[in-house]
Amino acid sequence: MREPTLFELSSPGRTGVTFPVSDVPLTKLPDTGMLRDELAIPELAEVDVVRHYMKLSKYNYSVDEGFYPLGSCTMKYNPKINEDTCRLPGFVNTHPLQPIETVQGNLALLWEMQEWLKEISGFAAVTLQPAAGAHGEFTGVLMMQAYHKARGDSKRIKMLIPDAAHGTNPASAGMLGMEIVTIHSDANGNVDLEALKAACDDTVVGMMLTNPNTLGLFDQNITEVVKLVRDCGGLMYADGANLNALLGIVRPGDLGFDVMHFNLHKTFAVPHGGGGPGSGPVGVSERLEAFLPAPLIYKVEEGTDEIPPLYGYETPKQSIGRMKAFHGHFGAIIRSYTYIAMHGPDGLKAISQYAVLNANYLMARLKKTYKVPFDRICMHEFVMEGRFEGTDIRALDISKRLMDFDFHPPTNYFPLIVHEALMIEPTETENKQTMDAFTDALLAIAEEARTNPEIIKSAPHNTLFGRMDEVKAARELVLCCWLPDQPLD
Ligand SMILES: *Cc1c(COP(=O)(O)O)cnc(C)c1O
Repeated sequence: MREPTLFELSSPGRTGVTFPVSDVPLTKLPDTGMLRDELAIPELAEVDVVRHYMKLSKYNYSVDEGFYPLGSCTMKYNPKINEDTCRLPGFVNTHPLQPIETVQGNLALLWEMQEWLKEISGFAAVTLQPAAGAHGEFTGVLMMQAYHKARGDSKRIKMLIPDAAHGTNPASAGMLGMEIVTIHSDANGNVDLEALKAACDDTVVGMMLTNPNTLGLFDQNITEVVKLVRDCGGLMYADGANLNALLGIVRPGDLGFDVMHFNLHKTFAVPHGGGGPGSGPVGVSERLEAFLPAPLIYKVEEGTDEIPPLYGYETPKQSIGRMKAFHGHFGAIIRSYTYIAMHGPDGLKAISQYAVLNANYLMARLKKTYKVPFDRICMHEFVMEGRFEGTDIRALDISKRLMDFDFHPPTNYFPLIVHEALMIEPTETENKQTMDAFTDALLAIAEEARTNPEIIKSAPHNTLFGRMDEVKAARELVLCCWLPDQPLD
């Protein structure tokens, strides 16, 4: 069964708007090839349209509706005050092409955000331009390449990437023609130091490292890792997607990283995953400052008690150029600015402490029933195996069954180095009752695996649609759902 489309609900002559009678004389439209005689638009009243979209919206699952433990993606609750501030008329009714003296308030916010992100991460400078994490990676890797090139060091073509890395890391380096060298993890889930030593030479651009990594583990040899890469002339890239574990506790800049992207939509509460655009600012150490994308916001003149400071744009000396129109996703930046301002330094630190506590609580309740391959204190997320000895239940089946219990499934099959991986990230805002209900559901599913495996294999049962053919859904996408070739049921 599918919902009728607006076209199918349409009735000739029905309308949602009435235009006033024209008070200017009618004129003929210019005779160009761009004009159409026919334009198919559904004809409906306002109430029909509202009901249609309200109904569709209720088929979605969102973090405002329930627990959303999607590891690596950090689907944290987005406080609603962020939505109020980003809609303030002073922000909404400005345009980036306005004369600079008329948008000083916007520039003040952007400048302060650059400063805050510097302080949080320990980097020397920050660009707010990139659109999201992957775009930030591409920006960072471009700067790493530019740095070596500017020093006349043209031999460097290899990017070292651990096997636990997110797929965007090799993709970003690969897009710049670099050769990807995979570094294995050791038995504790850290970077294998011997493998790293063997790979470090004068052809290395640098290393892209996520820390804590996608197993949710803080690399116990991080200082050693950074030193090995730096000693062979490479630069260290930090994938900042897991910053939610470190706020106010560890600064990647202090660990010796040269560049890092922030995922504002993960760490600093911006709706994402169908909820809106993200934002991927990039911080750099002094070595890379001159290569940052332009323009950066800078303070032209300090203010006084009576006169506010004056802000302007600047282009770093060896800038890689522009990465995005204007200043990036301003609305996302305002949301994150609000989130940081509302929490302050102590609040940010508490966020990470609770995120880590919550993940460890879940792991402790589950690890007797589900195998946790790296049994160490985890950071803000952990990975367990979604399979049981003697059954053919897989991680995907468990995830589908969780939907019957009204939970969003965890991340499946990532990282690739864990069999049937289920990657669970509760975030800091979940209370004990919610986390107990979630673990109870997973423990009940483990019991079903023994007593009634078919109910797991055929799940979900309580959702609008049952088990999908996911390959067909991905390969034969139907994006124009108004095409009249689908029957209504
Ligand atoms: C989310 C994520 C990325 C990519 O970030 P986007 O904002 O989705 O482009 C990169 N690395 C890791 C570890 C991530 O979790």
